[in-house]
Amino acid sequence: MRSRVEALIIGGGATGTGIARDLAMRGAEVMLVEAGDFAAGATGANHGMLHSGARYAVTDPVSARECAEEGAVLKRIARFCIEDTGGLFVSASRDDAEYVDRFLPACGRAGIRAEEIDTREAREIEPCLDAGIKAAVKVPDASIDPFFLALGNVSSARRHGATVLNHSPVRRIRRIDGGFEAVIGRGGRERRVAADVVINAAGAWAGEVAAMLGVSIPLCIDKGTLVVFNGRLVNRLVNRLRPPSDGDILVPHRTATILGTTSSAGAAGDRATSAEVERLIAEAEAVLPGIKESRAVRAYAGARPLLGGGSAGRGASRTFQVIDHACDGVDGLISVAGGKLTTFRLMAERTSDAVMEKLGRAARCRTADEEIEPFDDAPSSDFDLEAMRYRHGTSAAALSPFSTVPGCGCEAVTRGEMEHYASSPDVSDIGDLMRRTRAGMGYCQAGLCAVNMASAMDQGARELQRYYGERWRGVEPVLFGEQLRQEMFKAHLLKAYGIDHTEEGR
Ligand SMILES: Cc1cc2nc3c(=O)[nH]c(=O)nc-3n(C[C@H](O)[C@H](O)[C@H](O)COP(=O)(O)OP(=O)(O)OC[C@H]3O[C@@H](n4cnc5c(N)ncnc54)[C@H](O)[C@@H]3O)c2cc1C
Repeated sequence: MRSRVEALIIGGGATGTGIARDLAMRGAEVMLVEAGDFAAGATGANHGMLHSGARYAVTDPVSARECAEEGAVLKRIARFCIEDTGGLFVSASRDDAEYVDRFLPACGRAGIRAEEIDTREAREIEPCLDAGIKAAVKVPDASIDPFFLALGNVSSARRHGATVLNHSPVRRIRRIDGGFEAVIGRGGRERRVAADVVINAAGAWAGEVAAMLGVSIPLCIDKGTLVVFNGRLVNRLVNRLRPPSDGDILVPHRTATILGTTSSAGAAGDRATSAEVERLIAEAEAVLPGIKESRAVRAYAGARPLLGGGSAGRGASRTFQVIDHACDGVDGLISVAGGKLTTFRLMAERTSDAVMEKLGRAARCRTADEEIEPFDDAPSSDFDLEAMRYRHGTSAAALSPFSTVPGCGCEAVTRGEMEHYASSPDVSDIGDLMRRTRAGMGYCQAGLCAVNMASAMDQGARELQRYYGERWRGVEPVLFGEQLRQEMFKAHLLKAYGIDHTEEGR
């Protein structure tokens, strides 16, 4: 089968799905293809921090200003997946007490509202903070759910006419008269798609996609590891008041807290290690002394595609670049690289401007003005609907007639939600269902609910084994304390189904 579109977008992370939404809203004929599930790359493996820009104010002012402006835009257009908790920067007893004197003016220059508060007030707001903290500054950081953000972009792009496909890797691209032809794998078959313009939004894989057309992109891949704790250890985002470093951010996310991150330039692999987990926890203890006793439920790692420019890791800028490969002799190929989740919309806008120019069409960007998901503010007295409303915005109302029998106790997901998403053409395995409902992401790490997910999808022990094998990669590095007990309990439960949840990828 062959089809033709004006713009073919490769990569279904925040950036690619944001571009699909932007171009479709401008009236372009768009197809997006994603190799795995949406948010399968760095988008689904980050901190979920909606940066106010303060983290970069001193060291990376361009990125700080971009984050400040885009953070404010996203708080308007993506309310359904943002918790506007606010953030605190605190300096630990061993940190440089003078840093605050550089930090506050730098925030001012980047347009970030930063207010120094008394350390006693900081400890009233965040009772678990170390008694020895030396300074505290309030900033407008927030937490954002990257899965629902990407899925929101997908449904918005589709509403505006885009074709958006997951589990559809681009295998080859060649130039043909007046454009490109891409060969895309889908459901054991290959499909050919012709396009006037190809947009490479493949994140850490952008170099591989560009190489299909003989072009190279100078990216530095940087591994970052994060640890998820059960419950909220903090109410707002807590950052260390020092230059960006390891283990200095805690982000509260609904039922969990995420601690991060490491930065290993050029490190291979997307797997967190026990050594990284220990290092992160040891660093975090300087501001949150009780963290060692808290229950770590999993760890994961993501790859940042950074624009090197001579620096790597923490030294590399977090800003982005839109590359028109006409300069490499491949007119019509546009890559977008670098950036942050927080700045995805701006990256999409700039990329879409370049695409529209190539297509010879004029239509202005509207993504900053229209909400990704129209949000119904009406409060609900129904607990299940409340949790669903956060996950699905107004479409929660359409789900409520479904069964409200609990499907996942940790995350308050109903069987109705599971059944609803199990029948979506986008959902082909238990992991896909988990990302759309959050079932399995809580403290028992799918000890009980994966069976419900499998039954909603009519899948059996083999699929369950595969799912648990995948999840095990994240559980293994945190096998201590309470989670170790939980995993032993899970092992006994799953034996009844003939499943060894510690066995990977069968
Ligand atoms: C550890 C870590 C923590 C971070 N924390 C934050 C944070 O708190 N806040 C923030 O703002 N930013 C954060 N970031 C940065 C943020 O995650 C990224 O900037 C953002 O997610 C990049 O999105 P993307 O869509 O460009 O890339 P990705 O999400 O990586 O998407 C690229 C997609 O392309 C797909 N793909 C690759 N090859 C092909 C192919 N041949 N065919 C089809 N599809 C293909 C991949 O499967 C992937 O889904 C963090 C990053 C890391 C790694």
